[in-house]
Amino acid sequence: MTKKQRALEIIDRLKKEYPDADCTLDYDQAWKLLISVRLAAQCTDARVNQIVPKLFEKYPSVEALAEAEVADIEEIVRPCGLGKSKARDISACMKMLRDEFGGNVPKDFNALLKLPGVGRKSANLIMGDVFGEPAIVTDTHCIRLVNRMGLVDGIKEPKKVEMELWKIIPPEEGSDFCHRLVWHGREVCTARTQPYCDKCCLNDICKKRI
Ligand code: SF4
Repeated sequence: MTKKQRALEIIDRLKKEYPDADCTLDYDQAWKLLISVRLAAQCTDARVNQIVPKLFEKYPSVEALAEAEVADIEEIVRPCGLGKSKARDISACMKMLRDEFGGNVPKDFNALLKLPGVGRKSANLIMGDVFGEPAIVTDTHCIRLVNRMGLVDGIKEPKKVEMELWKIIPPEEGSDFCHRLVWHGREVCTARTQPYCDKCCLNDICKKRI
C-alpha cells in the first residue's frame, strides 16, 4: 500500500466514523475565528469558546477591538494563557484588518500570513473553514496521528508535515480530514494515554508507530 493509497483509505474510514466533524472553535464571523485561533495556542478550544463571548460582547466588531486598550483585551483573555502576547497580537491584527483590508479577513493565504499572530496553521484553518479553499491544518493532533499512521515518517515540524501531506491528500479533502484527525486524536488515538488501537477503525491499515 502506498502512502497515497493509505491516505485515501484513512480519509474514507474517518468520514464514516466522524461524518459531521468540523471546527471545534465556535464562531459566526471570520474575524472572530481569527481571534479564537490565536487564543487557542497552548489552550483548549473549550476554554477559548468560554472566554470569547465576553470579549465579543464588549467589543462587537473589528473596529471596536482595534480601538480597545491592549490591557483591557489582556484582562479578558488572560484565562487562555499568554495573555500579554495574545492581547498584543489581537490588537495589532484588528488594526491591520481595519486599516489595510477594509475590516474584512482577506481570502488570500499570503495576506493572512502577514497578520500579527497568524501562522500557517491559522491561515490554513481560515482558508479551509471560512472560504472553503484547500487547506491542511497541522496542529498537534494532526502531527501525532499522521506520524503514527505512517503517512509521514518521523516529521514533527508543522510546515514539513503540511508539505508532505499536500503530496498525498486530495486538496478538497484536506480541511475536513484535519478536523477528523482532531476528533480521532481526542477520542481514540490519544496523546496522554496509550492509544485505543483495539477499537480504532484504522487498526488494520495503521503503521502504529507509537
Ligand atoms: S491504530 Fe492505534 S495508532 Fe493507529 S490511528 Fe488507531 S489508535 Fe492511533
